Amino acid sequence: MEFHKLTVVELAKLIHRREVMPHEVIIDIFKRIQEVEPKVKAYITLSIDKAYDMAREAENTIFSGKNKLLTGIPIAVKDNICTKGIPTTCASKILYNFYPPYESTVTSKLLAQKYILPGKTNMDEFAMGSSTENSAFQITRNPWDLERVPGGSSGGSAAAVAADECIAALGSDTGGSIRQPASFCGVVGLKPTYGRVSRFGLVAFASSLDQIGPITKCVTDAALLMNVIAGHDSMDSTSAPIEPTDFTEYLGHDVKGLKIGIPKEYFIEGIDKEVEERIQEAIKKLEDLGCIPIEISLPHTEYAVATYYIVATSEASSNLARYDGVKYGLRAPGKDLLEMYMKTRSKGFGAEVKRRIMLGTYCLSAGYYDAYYKKALQVRTLIKNDFEKAFEKVDFIITPTAPSPAFKIGEKIDDPLQMYLSDIFTISINLAGVPAISIPCGFSEKGLPIGLQIIGKPFDEARILQLSYAYEQSTPWHKMKPTL
Ligand code: GLN
Repeated sequence: MEFHKLTVVELAKLIHRREVMPHEVIIDIFKRIQEVEPKVKAYITLSIDKAYDMAREAENTIFSGKNKLLTGIPIAVKDNICTKGIPTTCASKILYNFYPPYESTVTSKLLAQKYILPGKTNMDEFAMGSSTENSAFQITRNPWDLERVPGGSSGGSAAAVAADECIAALGSDTGGSIRQPASFCGVVGLKPTYGRVSRFGLVAFASSLDQIGPITKCVTDAALLMNVIAGHDSMDSTSAPIEPTDFTEYLGHDVKGLKIGIPKEYFIEGIDKEVEERIQEAIKKLEDLGCIPIEISLPHTEYAVATYYIVATSEASSNLARYDGVKYGLRAPGKDLLEMYMKTRSKGFGAEVKRRIMLGTYCLSAGYYDAYYKKALQVRTLIKNDFEKAFEKVDFIITPTAPSPAFKIGEKIDDPLQMYLSDIFTISINLAGVPAISIPCGFSEKGLPIGLQIIGKPFDEARILQLSYAYEQSTPWHKMKPTL
């Protein structure tokens, strides 16, 4: 049987009934990887030996009758999430030899379930980018069209899920990096509320924006993964001290009477015609299901990209100061300490990372701090207030995830501003700290997936999943697979 094609729910059922054993699953997954990975290149590291060890452990757990939901399920992990003893490179030369001495909280939680790690997925270096082309190691291709990007920065995770090279994956989202690649690859991607999932062991890019979340083949799987990875963690001071939730609680519940806000600022010139059509059709579908569309306004939307690129680069410049050739990672020898620092950072970081460190250092420097960083924080508050106001009137906000379907490899790499605009619809959500999902809502004429973004109130993921599930179950999109 082709186990790689299954979702988490489907495979978990077979494993619990002992109709399949984890080692059979992982053999099938690596067979699939062998077949399609030369084309897709979703993984930076394949942890083959480790995966077989993990399968054996999963089997022991099953035999002792202690299996859990994710026991024996192959879940790929983005390469900026620390996995003890397994390389975690952030797709950067500066961390090419980094074997973390500790485990991130999210993967510790997966380990407690006895999951299987097939490997670590490709990404834009330090999660900076929208196409995964900023990886220092390889270019990942979109399984729906190998000439196109999978989106980014979690492009490897999204491509691996879409190409059935794993059953589900974890990504991270600072300004859209789970949702935009999910949209480009035709899969589900959820960015939880800031503080919902522990960031302990996630290599920091912009700490006030970063969140880890699931990338899956269906909405139910996203809920199941959230049930495992969410929750308070004393190792992350920004983790929210709230009671655990059952994210599957509302799946299958009626969505009649739910108010969906349509922000007028999101349907602007420059948005691809086919994207707009698919989103309008999705809104119509939600209306058929009983939802009530209401036009709303998020008036500070036009400042989101500029605000984000000040906040994110400022935080990045500070976070990335630790890569100096002393503590870990690459070291390029020099005649003295300063030369060693400079050579290490100049060789170790790629162009986009350097660009951002320079921008961020500039924004934080004395004399410019008030004009840029402080101002950006003030505008960030206005953007957050926009959402709070909107959520007084509606339960959800519906937008496209990205302004276009997947673009061609190389198309935007030399034009950073064009690249930054790929996140125009996802960035405000991180600035506001609210949760949002991208779910498949159809295809372009060229057969490229298009994503629908559903934004919810803080900590309202279970309801986002309820609405997403209702939409998913009444449309065929999640059943479609790319031919590879
Ligand atoms: N594309 C955005 C950036 O380059 C967002 C990246 C992310 O969410 N990690 O910063």
